[in-house]
Amino acid sequence: MQKNKVIVVGGGMVGAAMAVKLAQQGCDVRVIEQRPINAEQVLQSETIDIRVSAINRFSEKLLDELGAMPLLRASRLAPYQQLEAFERAGDNLLFDCNDINTSHLGHLIENKLIQASLWQQFKQHNIDVLTIKSPICAIEQTAQDISLIYGEERYSANLVIAADGGQSQLRAKANIGVTGWQYQQHCMGVLIKMDAPQQIKTWQQFKPSGPVAFLPMQAPYANLIWYDDAAKLQNLNKLTKEQLKQQIIENFKPLAGDFEIVNQAVFPLARQHANKYSAGRLVLVGDAAHTINPLAGQGVNLGFQDVAALSDILASVDDIGNESHLKHYEQTRRKANLLMMSMMDACYFGFSNQLTPLQWARNRFLKIANSTGPIKNWVLKYAISGTLD
Ligand SMILES: Cc1cc2nc3c(=O)[nH]c(=O)nc-3n(C[C@H](O)[C@H](O)[C@H](O)COP(=O)(O)OP(=O)(O)OC[C@H]3O[C@@H](n4cnc5c(N)ncnc54)[C@H](O)[C@@H]3O)c2cc1C
Repeated sequence: MQKNKVIVVGGGMVGAAMAVKLAQQGCDVRVIEQRPINAEQVLQSETIDIRVSAINRFSEKLLDELGAMPLLRASRLAPYQQLEAFERAGDNLLFDCNDINTSHLGHLIENKLIQASLWQQFKQHNIDVLTIKSPICAIEQTAQDISLIYGEERYSANLVIAADGGQSQLRAKANIGVTGWQYQQHCMGVLIKMDAPQQIKTWQQFKPSGPVAFLPMQAPYANLIWYDDAAKLQNLNKLTKEQLKQQIIENFKPLAGDFEIVNQAVFPLARQHANKYSAGRLVLVGDAAHTINPLAGQGVNLGFQDVAALSDILASVDDIGNESHLKHYEQTRRKANLLMMSMMDACYFGFSNQLTPLQWARNRFLKIANSTGPIKNWVLKYAISGTLD
């Protein structure tokens, strides 16, 4: 039997995982990427990526199956064992890996390392990478296949996977609309070098102007996340390193030791959900399908769950581009993605509001959740596995 041909457009973390997974399942896979990387060089580079992701246990298992996790363990990552959320000292909700008899709750890993560890698998699975920087001209479909047209070139497959991120060109070309909005808050990531041993706790403090968070990376590095309105963050971004450090000292709870700022970047925040996940033989995964507030660090974890769900459905079918399979995938994933997006919004809006009764209610919630085993373990299980099963 002829192999099913797949084109994955976008070789970011989610697209690369999708490509490796389908190649492992016997498909003939090609990746189209506008900004290709040299995976070997990235894995060896000592330059730290300011973009870092909290990878939950579900994603860790997937990355293990794809062969990426061993490379990450040999490179740079930081397991975290505790996760703390609070608004004011004393009303802390603390999750500890010991509560559920596990060695860690997740890992903090630089995005570029996750992507490179997946690209390193391409060669052994004969995944061909095509660099195309120009925009796509058209998508054509017949009952048997789908073609992407770039200028004079035409690339055909049984299935096209759009993993080209939140501004997906393929999604637009396929006339799939999105529902969503830009949040008023933006977020600034600050990469710091600490004078402290390896940290094992990640924490987030909710403040009226937006949360601040500490993400431990492999020592001596860590990432500070500061949510606030766009203008305030743009002003902070213009400060000298010393001035910014002073602002951090005034606005974050004390860190474990002295620190210096390496660099920082400001990111706009959007919520966006595609109105449908497929059109004929084209299907959306990752941020192309859903962009979520990064408040609880779940975006790429949801993308990896898309990869697992879609590959599961396609594992035992003959025609992988058949619309009925792609609709089945949407049924499996849409509700779960929506639930996570809505929970992030409940946190975003709930904690930004200074109404006294709401303030009282959320501090009660943190207190009760912290002392009630079943609620705490349920939230914890959802946070680290991303599912309610
Ligand atoms: C500040 C911040 C912090 C975050 N923290 C976390 C976290 O802790 N945990 C977590 O799970 N998530 C986090 N996220 C979300 C996470 O970064 C995204 O969900 C994730 O990057 C999405 O991956 P993706 O592969 O779907 O898309 P992208 O990362 O956007 O990758 C898309 C890829 O497609 C390529 N591309 C784009 N257009 C084209 C085209 N036309 N042709 C070919 N290639 C194309 C791009 O070059 C890129 O390689 C965070 C997001 C932000 C903004």
